[in-house]
Amino acid sequence: MASRYTIELPSGIFDRSDNVLGLHLMPLWVPLSEQVSAHSATGLGRLRRRRDELQVTYGTVRISHALATMRPFFSFEFFPPRDDDGVERLFSSIETLRPLHPAFVSITYGAGGSSRARTIELAKRIARELDLTVLAHVTCVGSTRAELRAVFDDLARAGIENVLALRGDPPRGEAAFTPPAGGFSYATELIAMLKRNYDFCIGAACYPQTHVEAESPQRDLEHLHEKVDAGAEFLVSQLFFDNDAYMAFVERAREARIGAPVLPGLMPVTNYDQITRFVAMCGATIPPKLKAAMEQRRGDERAVEDLGVAYASMQAVDLLRRGAPGIHFYTLNRSPATRAIVSGMLAASAWRPDFSGRREFMAP
Ligand SMILES: Cc1cc2nc3c(=O)[nH]c(=O)nc-3n(C[C@H](O)[C@H](O)[C@H](O)COP(=O)(O)OP(=O)(O)OC[C@H]3O[C@@H](n4cnc5c(N)ncnc54)[C@H](O)[C@@H]3O)c2cc1C
Repeated sequence: MASRYTIELPSGIFDRSDNVLGLHLMPLWVPLSEQVSAHSATGLGRLRRRRDELQVTYGTVRISHALATMRPFFSFEFFPPRDDDGVERLFSSIETLRPLHPAFVSITYGAGGSSRARTIELAKRIARELDLTVLAHVTCVGSTRAELRAVFDDLARAGIENVLALRGDPPRGEAAFTPPAGGFSYATELIAMLKRNYDFCIGAACYPQTHVEAESPQRDLEHLHEKVDAGAEFLVSQLFFDNDAYMAFVERAREARIGAPVLPGLMPVTNYDQITRFVAMCGATIPPKLKAAMEQRRGDERAVEDLGVAYASMQAVDLLRRGAPGIHFYTLNRSPATRAIVSGMLAASAWRPDFSGRREFMAP
């Protein structure tokens, strides 16, 4: 039977942190046993009692569950560094972002499958040491089915619950993706294999401005539908700077009966040349006014970065107000820009000008 818990928060406290702040208020009127069941029902955190104080820690959860209960959510993407020093620096970055309670952090899989071992090790370490929900990316590039099975066996053994199942880009120097002998041709096939053999919560990539190799936007959408039919429960979008493109894409996806949540991916610009390279590769466009503003600041790294933070903040607020479920940040392993944006949004509850200080938890 469904039970409903309403948690009163003093006005002005942003609802994103209610799992922490709400708990300190709950003992006034909700018995502990019910608090525990209310929160475990949300799947968002675990309760601990320490020195008479209730605390929530965020352990590994299924992202589909978090998305169904958490609004808005924030998630952060990182790539595996090349060496041990880089790993330690990355851990410091993630720790800086941890107080923002990301719904999950995602770890990319090196182009060409190059960083396979590092992705897996990092995913396991973040879950174990930082107690954060991890989304491990895996691509089909350069791996046979048996090799991919070994990767997923390893992730499952380590308690990783979420994977982003990707085809991957063609290896450097190759113009087109060629499926490896004994491997998969498309992400859909990988997803279907995962669904048959594992219990992961599966995510897939989507492209508001159409994948660069797609025959047409319509065919790309049809293939996206196949990924969801095969078992993808949520979609993470390629980066974009034009919110109208994302909104139009979500509308087309809904018309095509794709019901999975579409997480918008934003990349705060920190470097003009780098972002120009990225958009050329992934087929996103830079709106003319943003391009002009970046060009004016070319050569002044600090000014470009400030513009990047301001623009991504505007984008994020606009997206949330227009109904996006949350924001996925491509951090490029640098925490300051993402930290500034999310902290500012949380401090201002910027997505809900009418926020009343109430939040409801539904137990299924
Ligand atoms: C959120 C996100 C995270 C990413 N993370 C990584 C990462 O960690 N590592 C990495 O190397 N790359 C990553 N990428 C890049 C990604 O690997 C590339 O964009 C890749 O070219 C496509 O992968 P996909 O899973 O979307 O492929 P697919 O969904 O298989 O689609 C690839 C192309 O094939 C077409 N297609 C699909 N099915 C069929 C079919 N049955 N018949 C004909 N055509 C078909 C699609 O329309 C599309 O054009 C990421 C991309 C995104 C958006």
